[in-house]
Amino acid sequence: MNTSLMPSRQTTESSIDERYRLILLNQYLKNIKEVPVAYGDSKWIFCCPFCSSLGRTEAKRNERKGALLWNDLQNSWVFYCVRQGSVECFGGGRTLERFLSAIDNELAERYRRDRWHSGTTGKGHNCPNPISIKKIQMDS
Ligand SMILES: [Zn+2]
Repeated sequence: MNTSLMPSRQTTESSIDERYRLILLNQYLKNIKEVPVAYGDSKWIFCCPFCSSLGRTEAKRNERKGALLWNDLQNSWVFYCVRQGSVECFGGGRTLERFLSAIDNELAERYRRDRWHSGTTGKGHNCPNPISIKKIQMDS
């Protein structure tokens, strides 16, 4: 297989996911490094926002154990931590929505609302409806 003909998969990243990925990288995550992977794509590695502070030494706390990896099936990013040192990062990957929820609830709700406006929440999508929308539906 001639891999040079394979297109970059991350060009299919939605503008909403891109916006929130940049907010995470610029405002919430520490010691970030972009690492090239196949086909011109990248992954992002950084200090796990949930368990890096539990490291016993400065060097341990600065280790990049968290990662945002591109997931073809979801056509989005999935957060992983290889140390899995806290409940928020233990037990496998998290969708961008669940990652945002664990970091900042208000930011996550903004993300769900943006996704809701683009028609990509609820059944068949990797993002639930916004909490505010669910409340309206229950009241009516
Ligand atoms: Zn962790």
